[in-house]
Amino acid sequence: MSFNPLLPKIIEAVAESIAKNADDITLLDQAIGDGDHVTNLQRGLAALLAQKADISQLEWPAAWQKMGMTIMTTVGGASGSLFGTLFIAMSKALVGRESNVQIFSLAFTQAVEAVKQRGKSDVGEKTMLDVLVPVAQYLQEAVAVSTPLVQLLEQTQQVALTGMESTREMLAIKGRASFLGERTKGHIDAGAMSSCVIICAVADVLLEQL
Ligand code: ADP
Ligand code: MG
Repeated sequence: MSFNPLLPKIIEAVAESIAKNADDITLLDQAIGDGDHVTNLQRGLAALLAQKADISQLEWPAAWQKMGMTIMTTVGGASGSLFGTLFIAMSKALVGRESNVQIFSLAFTQAVEAVKQRGKSDVGEKTMLDVLVPVAQYLQEAVAVSTPLVQLLEQTQQVALTGMESTREMLAIKGRASFLGERTKGHIDAGAMSSCVIICAVADVLLEQL
């Protein structure tokens, strides 16, 4: 039996959801970036789809590591190195630990810290971190009070959506969009939207299992 039977399903669901939202995300990256964000992501997702059977045989730390390396080497752009960092840091945080929702939440928080360091950025700068940081904070709070899993997953989706929406009126300070200054206001950040789409797709697959 495969070790991570849900992983292929999750990768497929993420690829499907990114495809469904591709035009909207591209419009955002065209408005305040160079328009390549979805193409970058889809290159990575195609590589992950090709590896999904192999990845599903690995234990969690090795699976995150392999996915991270694939993302690093295929996605490109700022987001390739940032998402790659997130996955590789997840792997490091999970080595030698059992996998449960508490440990996953802690690992995710550590991985988001690694993204902050890699991007030299933080919340409020109109990036993917405006979704990743509040989601990590929410997960930590939710596991601390033993929130039931269905509620935790549904609320995670809400937090991701709120985080994405919060980037609309922000001034871009990091990445390519920062060159446009005030003109970035009024547009959601492309990386915040793709992060939200990915998190919501993963949560949907997990919710279906419950
Ligand atoms: P590029 O900007 O190199 O074309 P992408 O289009 O693939 O790369 O990704 C752009 C997204 O990456 C942005 O929308 C933003 O969310 C994220 N991003 C860019 N720079 C940073 C940074 N320093 N820290 C966090 N996220 C960043
Ligand atoms: Mg771009």
